[in-house]
Amino acid sequence: MRAAADAVDREADRLTELDSAIGDADHGGNMRRGFEAVRSELDEGVPATPGSVLMTAGRKLVSTVGGASGPLYGTLLRRTGKTLGDAEVVTGEELAGALSAGIDAVAQLGGANAGDKTMLDALRPAADALADSGGKDLRAARTAAEKGAEDTTGLQARKGRASYLGERSIGHQDPGAASAALLMAALAEAGG
Ligand code: ADP
Ligand code: MG
Ligand code: MG
Repeated sequence: MRAAADAVDREADRLTELDSAIGDADHGGNMRRGFEAVRSELDEGVPATPGSVLMTAGRKLVSTVGGASGPLYGTLLRRTGKTLGDAEVVTGEELAGALSAGIDAVAQLGGANAGDKTMLDALRPAADALADSGGKDLRAARTAAEKGAEDTTGLQARKGRASYLGERSIGHQDPGAASAALLMAALAEAGG
């Protein structure tokens, strides 16, 4: 979570720039506010298990981020954490399974499918790459997320604010897919 907060802080301007092209220019600020709140909460005390760290962080994102990304990333972290349960040590395979469950919850909440030009287009390939490696290769997950985010440029948005632009959303990278790639890079940095 700290690596994620650092990455979001570093890249906030780029996220906002992407959101200014096809949204309302607040994605960097939303993510920075949320992850700085997560960082502060963890500075007060770190929960005992990886699952409870993720659930705590997810709740914090929901309560501090006003935009669509708050409830969506909050759901991702809460469901991933809940699926990990109270294990003190998590295997790669357990992480891969929990991450997939978290992504399913995001898809259910937001109603988006693959190719709709959302964060899911980075998250899903990352979770699939992680699962394909038996939960071992976080760097492959990161690379898949980065490719998925880049590939959203050619897509037309079908969910969220960018969908209001119709065909004019084509040619711009989705900000939420870009932030999802940052989060997967942070996971690879912390755990790989
Ligand atoms: P808002 O659009 O409310 O200003 P943000 O700018 O913080 O919120 O986040 C926008 C990002 O949220 C989009 O780039 C997209 O990746 C993601 N998003 C929006 N709606 C959905 C949805 N229904 N399902 C999945 N992701 C979504
Ligand atoms: Mg926005
Ligand atoms: Mg907004």
